[in-house]
Amino acid sequence: MLEVNNLSKEYPTPGGGLPILSGVSLSLGRGEAVSIMGPSGSGKSSFLYIVGALEPPTSGTVTLDGQNPFTMPERELAAFRNRQIGFIFQDHCLLPQLTVLENVLTPTLVAGAQEGGDELERARRLLAEVGLTARSEHRPAELSGGERQRVALARALIRKPLLLLCDEPTGNLDHASAANVAELLLELHRQQKTILVVVTHNAELAAKFPVRYELLEQNLVRDQ
Ligand code: ADP
Ligand code: MG
Repeated sequence: MLEVNNLSKEYPTPGGGLPILSGVSLSLGRGEAVSIMGPSGSGKSSFLYIVGALEPPTSGTVTLDGQNPFTMPERELAAFRNRQIGFIFQDHCLLPQLTVLENVLTPTLVAGAQEGGDELERARRLLAEVGLTARSEHRPAELSGGERQRVALARALIRKPLLLLCDEPTGNLDHASAANVAELLLELHRQQKTILVVVTHNAELAAKFPVRYELLEQNLVRDQ
């Protein structure tokens, strides 16, 4: 369960605090998926980074599986993020010197991530799910943009996170690749039963979600 309660965010400016989010609340259970639309600068990334415990809120709380990441010491927070949260950004953020398979495995290599040694098999299975088995030994530079995002998707899911957060996941892709990545994202979300939050200014991507929000005047408004 993800619980966002009365969240506000301001960025400091020379003229005082600049309010970006005001009193945002959202509650999502396992297996639920939502899209959040909003124009550039409306605070979509800020919201996602706070929910993903990458950036603290000015006020309000975020709890995932009953735990508030912002009360954790830094090491515990890093482990929590690694274990519970998968991220996909507009840029794939793959490591260029590693192969596709190694990139998918990177979240399992950090201290404390090991749990039973089936990571390699899971990585291979995820690469099969996103249709990239034949590309396992290639480097990111040898792939298309859509293929790189599919690797990023496999990497985001390798640790079976409870929460999958995507910031403009198809923003750099052509129409066909974007549709393909969106389809895989929703398919794997259903299969893995993550909580999925996608923020985007792409109406076509947002429309694929059963529950849709817009970020308007610093708050989430549910589409009917
Ligand atoms: P979006 O992802 O919807 O484009 P962002 O969350 O990136 O919106 O940004 C929302 C607003 O907050 C913008 O006006 C942006 O300039 C401002 N902003 C984002 N990050 C910072 C920061 N670290 N410091 C100051 N202002 C910021
Ligand atoms: Mg953004």
